[in-house]
Formats: sequence, C-alpha cells, structure tokens
Amino acid sequence: MTSLPPRPKRFPLSLDKLAPARPGTPSAAAAAEAREPLKPQGHWQQAAAIKARQTTPIGLGLDSAGVRQRMVDRLRREGLVDERVLQALATVHRHAFVDSALATQAYEDTSLPIGHGQTISKPSVVGRMMALMLDAPGARQRGHLGKVLEIGTGCGYQAALLMQLSKQVVSIERVRPLHDKARANLVGHHQVRLVYGDGMLGHPPSAPYDSIISAAGGDDIPQAWLDQLAPGGRLVAPMTAPSGRGQVLVLIDHVRDAAGSRFVRSLHEAVLFVPLKSGVL
Ligand code: SAH
Repeated sequence: MTSLPPRPKRFPLSLDKLAPARPGTPSAAAAAEAREPLKPQGHWQQAAAIKARQTTPIGLGLDSAGVRQRMVDRLRREGLVDERVLQALATVHRHAFVDSALATQAYEDTSLPIGHGQTISKPSVVGRMMALMLDAPGARQRGHLGKVLEIGTGCGYQAALLMQLSKQVVSIERVRPLHDKARANLVGHHQVRLVYGDGMLGHPPSAPYDSIISAAGGDDIPQAWLDQLAPGGRLVAPMTAPSGRGQVLVLIDHVRDAAGSRFVRSLHEAVLFVPLKSGVL
C-alpha cells in the first residue's frame, strides 16, 4: 500500500511567507496607519488626511515640481518654445484638477475625462493655444494676455494656467456641475471670475476682451465673440474644418488701423475638441 505525501499546508500562511510591504506602497501606508493609535481628536485629522489623499495620492510624487518639469521638458523638445507658457505649465498642478483615479496620468500629454462627457485638453494643445495668444501684437506689447474670456471652464485647469499669463480671466461653462467643480478647484483665486451660462453668447458685462480662447469647437465662430473682441485682441478656437471633416484651430485678430477695423482670420493645425453647444445644462 502506498501512502500519499502530506499536502502542503496552504492556510493560514505563516508571517514569514507574507511579502514585506515596500515603503511607499499602499499596503505599507495601510500598515503604518493600522499601527497608528486612534486619538479622540483623530476625526478631524483623519478627515483632513482622507481629503488630502483624494486630491493628492500619497506616494506618487505628483506634488513634486520634478514631475511637472519632466512634462515641460518633453513639451519643449516637441516644439513649445514660449518660456512663459512652459513656466505656467510647470506651476499649475494638473493632477489636482482630475479625478484621483486618473491622477497618475495627469502629466502625460493626453486629454482626460472630467465627467459629463467632457475632457480636459492635452497640455501640448493648451500650451499651443496660449502661445498663439501671447504672440498677438497687443499681447506682445503688453507682455501678458490682458483681459481674457475663456469659453468652456471644464474643471478649471486652463483657467488656472491663463491666470498665470494675464491680469483678469472670465471663464464661462454651460454644465452646472462642472462650473461648481471648477469653483471648488479654484477656490482662493481671485483674478478668475467663473460664470455659469452659454458661452456662445460670450459674456457682455465684462467685454471687450483682449484675448478670447475656446475649449470647445462649433461649425463657425459665434458673432458675439467677434463683437466682444477688443481692437488689437486675438481669438483662438477650434472650429469644424472647411472640408467639413474634423476640426482645425482658428485664429482671429481684430485689427484696427488707418484703413478701419477688420477681423483677420487664419487656419492652423487639425485638433480634436469637444463640441460647442448652445444653452445650459
Ligand atoms: N478648459 C477646460 C476644458 C473643458 S472641455 C479644462 O481645462 O478643463 C470644454 C468645455 O466646454 C466643456 O466643459 C463643455 O461643457 C464646455 N462648453 C461647450 N459648449 C459651451 C458653451 N456654449 N458655453 C460654455 N461652455 C461650453
């Protein structure tokens, strides 16, 4: 008669079989937290820690300037040369504007969902649009973007960048929950005025604007934007390509000289933005 060898014991595993938690890993953080004695005043501290973790995942290093600098160096290599724009991109914490589950992708050159079917634009495209605006004759003379109207606040990331390059930003959003989200993301930033409304109408109370930038593209540029663009001002927006397929970046300068006042339009590279829609949600 043959006897079977004893089956290896699988459970419970002895402690030495468990992989040690590496410092900085979630399991290490959880283990450290488990050892932390609970204090009566702990509620507030824990709530604050949880909140901080939601916006800034621990151990990912996203708060370090280095991670943004690497993104900026990449963008510079790829042809974004305006140092003021690069400086703004190095300053604003993009990961704080997106859902914590997406935070690890925040410094890749990619658009990211922000809810309600909308996306935060790619840093390279946002950078390109801001560089085009800074290159307008008026902005060059002034040294900054002057008074800016942004159509499509979304999560507020681009508004935060625009604030680095201008004196005053008015940003309008048609989706109420996104308007509220941007308000929470930009708390304490006083140069930005967030407006809930249909940006196709611009925002007449603060017009005229030296710079107008749209983060959503329609079939044409709304007349209201041209009406609200100051002489010497520049507008940058995505728009349906003349072929009717895809979008291109459109640049419009409001030129005023001895010959009178006119709008000079030029078409640039292909882009991909969410649609410009009328009305509010
Ligand atoms: N600049 C934003 C990008 C958001 S995507 C950011 O940094 O997150 C573009 C936004 O334009 C969307 O939030 C969409 O709801 C908004 N939008 C589209 N049509 C609009 C309109 N007519 N008025 C205002 N916002 C509009």
